[in-house]
Amino acid sequence: MLNSNKMKLIIVESPTKAKTISKFLGSGFKIESSYGHVRDLPERQLGIDVEKNFKPKYTILAKSKKRVAELKAAAKKASEVILATDEDREGEAIAWHLSQALDLKKSDRIVFHEITENAIKESLKNPRDIDMKLVDAQQARRILDRLVGYKLSPLLWKKVAKGLSAGRVQSVAVRLVAERAKEIDNFKPEEYWSIVAVLKVDKDEFEAQLVKIGEKKLEKFSITNKEYAEKIVSNLDGAVWKVLKIEKKESKRQPLAPFTTSTLQQTAWSWFGYGAKQTMMLAQQLYETGLITYMRTDSLNVSQEALAVAAEKIKNDFGNNYLATAPRIYKTRSKTAQEAHEAVRPTNPESNPEEFQTKLTAQQFKLYDLIWRRFIASQMAGAIFEATGADISAANDYIFRATGNVLKFDGFLKVYRQKLSENLLPILKENEALELRELKSAQHFTEPPPYYNEASLIKALEEYGIGRPSTYAPTMVTIQLRRYVIKDEQKRLKPTDIGILVNDVLVKHFPEIVDLEFTARMEENLDKIAEGEKQWQPVIKEFWIPFKNNLDKKSMELSKEKLAVEKTELKCPKCGKDLVIRMGRYGKFYACSGFPGCKHTAPLESSNGTAENADLGPCPKCPDGKIVKRRTKKGRFFWGCSVWPKCDYATWENPAKNKPEEDA
Ligand SMILES: [Zn+2]
Ligand SMILES: [Zn+2]
Repeated sequence: MLNSNKMKLIIVESPTKAKTISKFLGSGFKIESSYGHVRDLPERQLGIDVEKNFKPKYTILAKSKKRVAELKAAAKKASEVILATDEDREGEAIAWHLSQALDLKKSDRIVFHEITENAIKESLKNPRDIDMKLVDAQQARRILDRLVGYKLSPLLWKKVAKGLSAGRVQSVAVRLVAERAKEIDNFKPEEYWSIVAVLKVDKDEFEAQLVKIGEKKLEKFSITNKEYAEKIVSNLDGAVWKVLKIEKKESKRQPLAPFTTSTLQQTAWSWFGYGAKQTMMLAQQLYETGLITYMRTDSLNVSQEALAVAAEKIKNDFGNNYLATAPRIYKTRSKTAQEAHEAVRPTNPESNPEEFQTKLTAQQFKLYDLIWRRFIASQMAGAIFEATGADISAANDYIFRATGNVLKFDGFLKVYRQKLSENLLPILKENEALELRELKSAQHFTEPPPYYNEASLIKALEEYGIGRPSTYAPTMVTIQLRRYVIKDEQKRLKPTDIGILVNDVLVKHFPEIVDLEFTARMEENLDKIAEGEKQWQPVIKEFWIPFKNNLDKKSMELSKEKLAVEKTELKCPKCGKDLVIRMGRYGKFYACSGFPGCKHTAPLESSNGTAENADLGPCPKCPDGKIVKRRTKKGRFFWGCSVWPKCDYATWENPAKNKPEEDA
């Protein structure tokens, strides 16, 4: 009897989410937030008993002690405790840790893809138990990452430079960045030439490119030198130009699938320049206020209801011909995209994005508008282009080609803009004579592949099967925080000296840690744990035994002298012994080979005078130094302390600008 007056306690992980849910439920519910994780492995020790089947030792986080006590008291007073953390593995793990930390004898677990009244009420009708398979997959990831980090980092510290760290997925990401940079450094550009005719018919001019000589088709790189190009131009002196053949064909462009985490991060980067971390922060705000479905997903599924609403919206706003002839169903490439059940889409597809504009910040609105457009477009008709190709002959044997592309029906492009290369050809008739205005030969060079940026690196990680929706953004943050990778002014990712060195050491001595396939297989194993096909302990054991053996072997074998010391021609000014270049956490410096007998050190730049001595103020870290602008050996600027390496203060941020980078 008394119980019926008690409230039901719902626990979620964020206060915003709690606030949104409380709007939908009556007075019988009390909604509280745990403020994220409440338990984790201990901070200052391994926290894993390797001998006892990798038993983790979890402790309540210092920041959560008070909160846990409060939630415990609230749970005692409640008639029922309902755990409503996010629907992925991380959320399941938080629910489990809560049930442990709060000593819950019994609790209900509810999940939903979106925080809307219907979804919450529906989920309350279908509570379940905590899914230990999902919890185990999260525990296994946590324990693996902890084992690698805690065991490998001290070795790097001893054998390379103090303060370094290594991690599982992050090291593979650094490897991709480092190898791409090496590929670019080693790239040998090759010369090629193009020949373009500017032609005139009536009053219209257009361009055509040489594609064939006699029976020989020219590829992009066929004309390799100036002599050949000039010979072609002179052969065409006084030639007769005419239209040989015209082809017209219709082509259709179909819309893209609605967003997953990775495509959302990539598109927000290329449209707005948002880093992955920033995009996820904004997406989480939109999710927690009920505007979009859960943002960490690799699924392309869309609920039947949302499909129907989108179809109505398209018909009403744009007309029947803008609606795809049948609902478009997109197939997820990833085999394991089941646990998060929907693509990222708006929860109110029927409303125009502008209706929410006043409730959102400018950045939130931009991201919401993008998600809405991508979703609506994904159910719209394709765009239709008419492509025209004209073959033009010069002196009979030389064939030039002109192309035109015209949009006939915009379809989904009405809602979702994409780069179009529309160009109009004048109306041409076969056998029509043309006037040559100019014949141009131009020199080009083949280009190396581009540096990675956050968008293309996330795309590569996804294609290699490394990382999951929850890990892309944290990986981007970590590799930059560790200073293994920096973002240049054009937001391109480049490896630092220390990033290159650590990667070289890992590739040579711990190949599996940075092996793409090995890491992808480990991710698959984690997926199998989540599906109940594997137990977590054997997966960890299978990794741990060879890793530990190799670690012990390398601890004996490797020496700092071999890994991280370069010889030079220079002599120590104090004692006359050879100077060497050593690696510190923030880069290289000169040191005396007589160390520890002689402690002479000097910044790398001191010999070639690249340190700039503008007054940039005192060092914030030590009493003696002042800030100087420096270049690494590779030519990248950073700002460090003038008494380096006695003081290790260094930053990539220009102190003169005094403006922090927008994301880490
Ligand atoms: Zn010396
Ligand atoms: Zn200093």
